[in-house]
Amino acid sequence: MSSSSSRPVPVIALHGGAGTLSRATISAEQQAAYRDALGTILRAGQAMLAEGADALDVVTEAVRQLEECPLFNAGRGAVYTAEARHELDACVMRGSDLAAGAVAGVRTLRNPVLAARALLEEGGAVMLIGEGAERFAVRQGCETVSPDWFGTPARLQQLRTMQAAQAGDTMALDHDGAAAQAAQAAPLDERAKFGTVGAVALDAQGHLAAATSTGGMTNKRPGRVGDSPLIGAGCYANDRTVAVSCTGAGEAFMRALAAHDISALMAYAGLPLEEAARRVVMDTLPPLGGRGGLIAVDAQGHVTLPFNTEGMYRGWARVGQPVRVAIYADEEGA
Ligand code: ASP
Repeated sequence: MSSSSSRPVPVIALHGGAGTLSRATISAEQQAAYRDALGTILRAGQAMLAEGADALDVVTEAVRQLEECPLFNAGRGAVYTAEARHELDACVMRGSDLAAGAVAGVRTLRNPVLAARALLEEGGAVMLIGEGAERFAVRQGCETVSPDWFGTPARLQQLRTMQAAQAGDTMALDHDGAAAQAAQAAPLDERAKFGTVGAVALDAQGHLAAATSTGGMTNKRPGRVGDSPLIGAGCYANDRTVAVSCTGAGEAFMRALAAHDISALMAYAGLPLEEAARRVVMDTLPPLGGRGGLIAVDAQGHVTLPFNTEGMYRGWARVGQPVRVAIYADEEGA
């Protein structure tokens, strides 16, 4: 997928989470909603790159748009904690100087990725959590919303379904038509899906950037933070190697330092991007319980989107070329 010209063609890649296939037959309309959302956001990123935008601006804006879309588990549409609240995490990283910003456990920031970006721009602390992160973001002009704003009936139903299943309440589960409907109204089974969103990009100046945003895992313990806002685990960018954004069982991605491991395999072992990413997703993560996937672009413009689940919402777009969107493993771009 590399460019034949001396300077790589700018490219953006997105993910909207990985998981198992839905058990129900999904209608063409339901699939189209996911594909359309990814396609629209990719086209916007492609247009920004064509106009010469920075990779950091492109990934920040793409993730902001994914946070606004209730189909994905980030921002509006985020999953619920065990206490039926939302705790959101996000991270951005710039490959040219390894600048980064991250927030975790925020509850009222409409777009956590913009708070992460503001922190990157400030250039001091790299990560803020909870109320301190919210106070900082408000001072920087980030918009706040009522915590209810993030919730959707489908996500609340997911929480209730999972809690019922954990309590062994299979009768309620089997006969709960609303739960089944909520869980199966998407191409990937919402009961077994990691819905984090992310973007990576290479810009016309040859710079890389990555961004990741999530509501975390349904029914997560209050205060739990996964890999998504952790630099080197769920998000990483370095112009010398690669930009990576991950989605999956966060604890395994943290223990494997999954995103940075790809960069390290490229820098220290000289592996090409595709082999480095394949090794981490297919060899390193599964023994740790690391179901999921990632998107990555290297400094030469190679793109890879590997996952070890049955599907991953994903897509990529090079400037001047068709936008590609895929969900299942047998589609091009796996
Ligand atoms: N990696 C995220 C987390 O563990 C979940 C996801 O990818 O959906 O918080």
